[in-house]
Formats: sequence, structure tokens, C-alpha cells
Amino acid sequence: MQTSTSGQSRIWLSSPHMGEHERRYVNQAFDENWIAPLGPHVDGFEHDLQNYTGAAHVAALSSGTAAIHLALILLGVGQGDEVICQSMTFCGTSNPIVYLGASPVFVDSESDTWNMSPVHLRAAIKDRLRRGKKPKAIIYVHLYGMPAQADEILAIAREYDIPLIEDAAEALGSVYYGRPCGTLGDMSIFSFNGNKIITTSGGGALLSNNKEWIEKARFLATQARDAAPHYQHTQIGYNYRMSNVCAAIGRGQIEVLDQRVAQRRANHDFYESWLGRWPGVSFLREPKGVLANRWLSCILIDPEEAGFTREDMRLALAADNIESRPLWKPMHLQPIYADCPFYGDGTSEFLFERGLCLPSGSNLTPEDRARIREAAESVKTNAVWI
Ligand SMILES: *Cc1c(COP(=O)(O)O)cnc(C)c1O
Repeated sequence: MQTSTSGQSRIWLSSPHMGEHERRYVNQAFDENWIAPLGPHVDGFEHDLQNYTGAAHVAALSSGTAAIHLALILLGVGQGDEVICQSMTFCGTSNPIVYLGASPVFVDSESDTWNMSPVHLRAAIKDRLRRGKKPKAIIYVHLYGMPAQADEILAIAREYDIPLIEDAAEALGSVYYGRPCGTLGDMSIFSFNGNKIITTSGGGALLSNNKEWIEKARFLATQARDAAPHYQHTQIGYNYRMSNVCAAIGRGQIEVLDQRVAQRRANHDFYESWLGRWPGVSFLREPKGVLANRWLSCILIDPEEAGFTREDMRLALAADNIESRPLWKPMHLQPIYADCPFYGDGTSEFLFERGLCLPSGSNLTPEDRARIREAAESVKTNAVWI
């Protein structure tokens, strides 16, 4: 356990939280000596994800980034192509575009959900078409488990006949007007990285109602081996399948997913119950009819009104060995993407400057919460901002 000078153990932003059965599934993999990529738990985990989301076809993969990479390949994205991508996100969303020699066109967020703005999406498509280049795909994200304006985005994608990839890496368990996140695109992806709402230590999945795509994804993810007794390849493939041991963890985790959603939502309620009364502090609102998994609880701090900045709050928590983190830094502000086109009005930059993700693990104890609250309160007396 990591300790600070304060002697207190570290409170993480989001740490793995095992249930009761993960070890049993892993032991089963050991007992049967299925310590390989593929195996019965991989099939089982794929079925679990199908049952949970209602997606017709699922491929379990080594990461969420790998899932996006394969989705782009399946859509034929290649050298010189353009792909529209939500700017405010983790680089795992956008980097696979560059793996393929294509270039991202970034679109800003809107302030209701912090996700892709349908208005700027339309403006981006129109302008790219005017320049003579039709985008090959659109990737949008449900940040922090808050569903994006999916119906508006889907309608625009259909209007211009551009395939839509849904990055639901942070949104497993979220529901958009009765439809689960992970079923709101032509292809959708999840991540089971260690910090996500459930984890396989590392892993991801690609989901679609298009059977051909998912079968092709499985083929590409196993080095594109043709049917032959020897190793025969007519295409470049990848080593992207999930291992049977990781899938065993996933089988146990999905059993407790609904509990994890409830626990994360309870964290959010806890923060809102006291921070919600602080002047200058605001929360990401959940629209009526939508269920956000509240993967991370996030706040915006208006320094004029609050009397302290986002950074003051982060440092106040860090002083007691409590991890918090600014919101995702938009990709159009990242040095690696400085030359990419961007369509927007400054919303994601504004959110990045003021936003903070608070400790949100489903395993926070009442003592952890009390410590977080006390450390946060100290910002009022210690803030350096005037
Ligand atoms: C975590 C994450 C990914 C990437 O998933 P990995 O499994 O870490 O490769 C992609 N997009 C978003 C929005 C994420 O949060």
C-alpha cells in the first residue's frame, strides 16, 4: 500500500474492485490448463456481454484501443483518409486513426453532456465535403459514462452516409433512453482496462449487429490465419484477442456490474450532497430518461465564484494522498495532434481548464469518503488563488 508523508494510504481515482467469483473462474482456467488466448471463458465472456447489452455479436479483444483499430480497418480506413473524432477524450480513441496512416478531424464538445456536439459535427462534415474529402468514419464517446446525444449524432451520420463508431469504453452499464451504451453505433467498443468500471486487468471488446464484421474482427485479431494445416496468410493480421485468463476475470466482474454502477452512482450522490452546495462548483447533469454509470464523478470549478481553482482543489486532495485528475485534455490541444483540423467553439478547452475528476472507485469506504471531504474542505482555507 502506497503511503504519503501524511502516513495515510492512497485513495485512488478508480481502482479495480473484484467480486466473489473472479478467482473461481481463474482457478477453473488453471485447472483446465486453458492459459491461452481464446478458450471457453472468452466465449463465455462474449456471451455475457451479448446478454448484458443486447448486441448481436461480440468479439473479446486485448484492449479498447485494439477494438477501435479493428473497427477502422473493417470500415476500410487507410492511408490519406480522414476520420472525424470527438476531441475531448483519451488518446486511445484517436491514435488508431494514425496507426492506419489516416488523419483525425477533431470535433468539440457541447456543454450538456461534455460529448461530441452535433452542431459542430455537422459543420465539420460540411466543410470536409466542401474541400472534396468525405470522412470515412465518425468516432464519438460517452465520457465518464454520460451518454452523448446519440440520436442526433446517429441521424447526422445516416444523413451523410458515414459509418459511426461508438467509443463506450467508459460507459458500460449506462443506458440512453432505454438503449444500452455499446449498441448506439454501427460498431461499438468497450474497454476493460484496470481503471474502468469493470476490468479484466487489460482488455476490450468490439460489438455490432453485423455478423460479418465481428467474424472478420476475430480473424484479424488472430494474425489473420487462413484455414490451412500450416500457417497461411493472405492478409496482415494482429495479435489482439483476449486471453482465457483475462476473460475469466471478466466473467466474474460482469456478475457484479449492476452493483458497480449503483456504487459509482452513490459516489456521485455523495459528492453532490455537499459539494453541490458550494458556490462555483457544478456537476455534469444526467438528463431525464438517461442512466449514466457515473464511472467518474466530475466537477467544474468556477474560480471567480468558488474562490479557488481546479488546481487548488487537486493539490488540497493530493496533500492527503488522495488522487484526483483534470478532465481529459482535448486532442486538438495535444502536441501530437497540433496540425489536425478542429471544429468547435472552445467548449472542451473550457471544460478542461475547470474540470476535475474525483475519487470514484466502487470500493471507496465510509472512512475514505470522510477523508476526501475533509481534504476538500481544506481548500477553502488554503487556496492560493485570490
Ligand atoms: C480507456 C479508454 C480507451 C482505451 O481503452 P484501452 O483498453 O485502455 O485500450 C478508449 N477510449 C476511451 C474514452 C477510454 O476511456
